[in-house]
Amino acid sequence: MPLALDPEEHQTLRDAVAALGTRHGRHPDTTALWSEAGKLGYLGVNLPEAYGGGGGGITELSIVLEELGAAGCPLLMLIVSPAICGTVIARFGTDAQKQRWLPGLADGTRLMAFGITEPDAGSNSHRITTTARRDPDTGGWILTGRKVFISGVDLADATLIVGRTEDARTGRLKPCLFIVPRDTPGFQRRRIDMELRAAEKQFELTLDDVRLPADALVGDEDAGLLQLFAGLNPERIMTAAFAIGMGRYALARAVGYARERTVWQTPIGAHQAIAHPLAQAHIDLELARLMMRKAAHLYDAGDDAGAGEAANMAKYAAGEACVKAVDQAVHTLGGNGLTREFGLASLITAARVSRIAPVSREMILNYVSHQTLGLPKSY
Ligand SMILES: Cc1cc2nc3c(=O)[nH]c(=O)nc-3n(C[C@H](O)[C@H](O)[C@H](O)COP(=O)(O)OP(=O)(O)OC[C@H]3O[C@@H](n4cnc5c(N)ncnc54)[C@H](O)[C@@H]3O)c2cc1C
Repeated sequence: MPLALDPEEHQTLRDAVAALGTRHGRHPDTTALWSEAGKLGYLGVNLPEAYGGGGGGITELSIVLEELGAAGCPLLMLIVSPAICGTVIARFGTDAQKQRWLPGLADGTRLMAFGITEPDAGSNSHRITTTARRDPDTGGWILTGRKVFISGVDLADATLIVGRTEDARTGRLKPCLFIVPRDTPGFQRRRIDMELRAAEKQFELTLDDVRLPADALVGDEDAGLLQLFAGLNPERIMTAAFAIGMGRYALARAVGYARERTVWQTPIGAHQAIAHPLAQAHIDLELARLMMRKAAHLYDAGDDAGAGEAANMAKYAAGEACVKAVDQAVHTLGGNGLTREFGLASLITAARVSRIAPVSREMILNYVSHQTLGLPKSY
């Protein structure tokens, strides 16, 4: 589905990724798709060329994710590995960290998960308690805490963990980012049994006195929040791309079905009760897509503050549009909408993820109420 605003190189990327997605199709071998997309340079389009990336931005990476999703095979770890972790390391990592991680993240041979959510903090990430203290013997760090719902930890070579350190002057806790390799002693994972049919699993993590070298810290200990949001805005934009791709996939399947299926004299797609909600779903997806492009454009132009509001709005609009498109698609197929064979019913659960994660619909409405409209807070 071309976007008239796309410059030619974006359209070329869109077409090429769409062709790759179509070759792999719904329920692909995710490892094979990841590996092929990596070899073709799609996983690292946003990362610096000096480290093997494509030198583009979140605009290009969101095109990759949207088109794979529209072909029925979204790669969830694109949101995490190149978009959050790759961005944070490229922007704030040391030369050594960039050398060690970026080439692998760019070609997909290495993968990094991202862990911020905690069982007792949830949406209130100011309440996270995973704490890093200095190891007096080695000058490194010791991390203790728990995380929940962290995606792809089993596949990832390391997880970028959001923890806190104590400000020596004020005693206040500050967010900080640490790279924790998968097999570090004390770093344990337990798979959470989710009602999702996806290759990427979610895990509860326990960090029990995890000892890390000094260079496990990414960026400046004192600039935690700013660095964190440099990764969280791409996460929101990419989640919008994930949702829009899935919505487009469901809508296309429903439209194809509605053109053919005939139980009276005309195909069911001629009945406006079927056609109009599909048309509305298309409009909602297109509108969400425009906001996603705005957010990506602002982010890539270096406007972190402006991108924050647009990324939130895009994630909200895309999540809502995706949930509605999937719901209407399933309905359009009647009984077939709920069969394994037609494969749309599992999207009902999958679509809900984009309404909850990485920041819920209500927390975005709170953000817009407070930050944009200046209304008072209830919490
Ligand atoms: C499939 C999946 C993958 C995930 N992957 C990752 C990952 O890789 N890394 C990671 O760190 N996290 C991940 N998450 C976690 C995700 O980011 C959280 O689930 C999300 O932030 C919501 O937190 P919570 O589940 O604790 O809900 P809660 O914070 O407990 O919220 C529950 C409900 O209360 C509402 N609510 C809470 N506070 C308010 C308020 N002030 N006003 C109005 N309503 C409110 C919420 O909107 C929500 O509807 C993933 C989650 C899922 C489902």
